[in-house]
Amino acid sequence: MFISCGDTPSDQEDLLIFTNVTIWDGVSQTMEPNSALVTSNGRVVDILDMNDPDFPEEAETVDLNGGFVIPGLINAHGHVGTARGLETGPDIHSEENVRDQLALYARYGVTTVVSLGDEPQEAFTVRDQADFSANGLARLFLSGPVLNPSTPEEAFDDVGDLMQNNPDWTKIRVDDGLGQREKMQPEVYSAVIEASHEQGVPLAAHIVALEDAKGILEHNGDLIAHSVRDEEVDRELIDLMLERDICITPTLTREVSVFVYAERPDFFDDPFFLGEADPDVIEQLEDPDVQQRYTGAAADYFREALPLATENMMTLHNAGIRVAMGTDSGPPARFQGYFEHMEMEMMEEAGMTAPEVLRSATRYAAECMQIDDEIGTLEPGKWADFVVSEENPFETITNLRTIQGVYIGAIEVQR
Ligand SMILES: [Zn+2]
Repeated sequence: MFISCGDTPSDQEDLLIFTNVTIWDGVSQTMEPNSALVTSNGRVVDILDMNDPDFPEEAETVDLNGGFVIPGLINAHGHVGTARGLETGPDIHSEENVRDQLALYARYGVTTVVSLGDEPQEAFTVRDQADFSANGLARLFLSGPVLNPSTPEEAFDDVGDLMQNNPDWTKIRVDDGLGQREKMQPEVYSAVIEASHEQGVPLAAHIVALEDAKGILEHNGDLIAHSVRDEEVDRELIDLMLERDICITPTLTREVSVFVYAERPDFFDDPFFLGEADPDVIEQLEDPDVQQRYTGAAADYFREALPLATENMMTLHNAGIRVAMGTDSGPPARFQGYFEHMEMEMMEEAGMTAPEVLRSATRYAAECMQIDDEIGTLEPGKWADFVVSEENPFETITNLRTIQGVYIGAIEVQR
């Protein structure tokens, strides 16, 4: 406890203490009851026992009424600003749309999103200019256009062009779209990875097949951005991932989104969904012509692949590989904020414990996305980004739905 030693009066004046909580700091195995989260200028200073004799009585306090506090959720694989409702394309690109989506994530407790590809230029403006905590916006990390070079030379050029925007990640797709297009070849993706690393930027790869996941790892890629969906993962993949401590974002809800709207999904009656969903979008998705778009070969493929994707996630998790919660939310009908809760609930249903899911959605997501210097846990010095719920999320993830407050840099998000 370092706030009591050598504190000057001005230090005390800056303190903002959230009292009367049961708290998980993102690191410990257990939650601490009867605690207080001490912050200063938006950052964590300490976690104290409410009965600590050195409890600073003079500081400003916010009583959180016995709520449960966890670090803010991090979506390790989302997309921001690429769609509005079911619409995509340049007409909907705007800073306002990016901000609206970051606010939506934040209201669901997702205080950071790593957007993995194809964001409009406006998203970079928001990333570079926004005061996230003052405006109730989820913190934003970006990768820019998904690169698709056809030669190694082009790969170096494309990565070079990307660097004007100072991306946090680069992103590629190694996937033939179920035979609809040519798949990026190893010599090409290997060049993209090398070029990215020369710029100090990690690379995330969209894959479907086990073979391609291995190829990415053999060529030093830094994130497997979806589940393996064509066959069971094997020892070779596990060893490749463990060797360089590489993570996976399962994006199970991405699979759900490609077939679930063929019929009216149950969650269209879920108040937790309806609280934020645009009624016009729901109505469009109930239109039989639109429902038709969620049928066919791709829908069938991914519907059938979902149980395998889930099983593969658990195999990797049980082998000690870090699973980072990621949804691929943001494209049409992948509902930002709600899908992160659905993803976590699917992870729990698959066999992860609630604390494991929470770790995956906070500390691991931060570590895997290489943004853990300032977020992911409530350790001293990090941003005071946190979610307060009425029920204990360590018992079951669905308890996180009882959100009582969301704080970014110790400032409450308007909900
Ligand atoms: Zn994606």
